[in-house]
Amino acid sequence: MGCDSTQHASVFGAANQAGSFHIPGGYDIGSFLNRAGKEHIRIVEQPLPDGVCGAWHDASRTIFLHDRLNQRQLYCTLCHELIHAWHHDPGCGTPYGVKCERRCRRETALALISPVDYGMVEQVYEGNAWMMAVELGVTVQVLSDYRQALYDMGVCVQ
Ligand SMILES: [Zn+2]
Repeated sequence: MGCDSTQHASVFGAANQAGSFHIPGGYDIGSFLNRAGKEHIRIVEQPLPDGVCGAWHDASRTIFLHDRLNQRQLYCTLCHELIHAWHHDPGCGTPYGVKCERRCRRETALALISPVDYGMVEQVYEGNAWMMAVELGVTVQVLSDYRQALYDMGVCVQ
């Protein structure tokens, strides 16, 4: 059974009122970089170990980004690390706590994917994760985190 986008929208309206993380309008890499600059967050691009797209170091307020990310990875990773920064999480990844990593992934997904767009691409691509992720401009990881968030909120997912 599918869900219509109206249902997603109302669930997220409630979630936002409950204080979920929300970045107001016009997200792109440039606006994330601007915001990082204003908050005196340093961004360093450098080679990182396999499978690591980015990292956050709270003590020096530095975001590390892998220097070979594609556009979608860069967009999602930057948002993810900024959310760690805003929460003053000590770092990124499981050594720093499963709980703050889970919260960060969930908030990243909710910030980057709008419920209306999700509902639309879900129909167009019939739930194909890769095609949906490309269309939404996010990584498959972020898309699956979004689906998990929907599931956790009790919204049906195809
Ligand atoms: Zn993280």
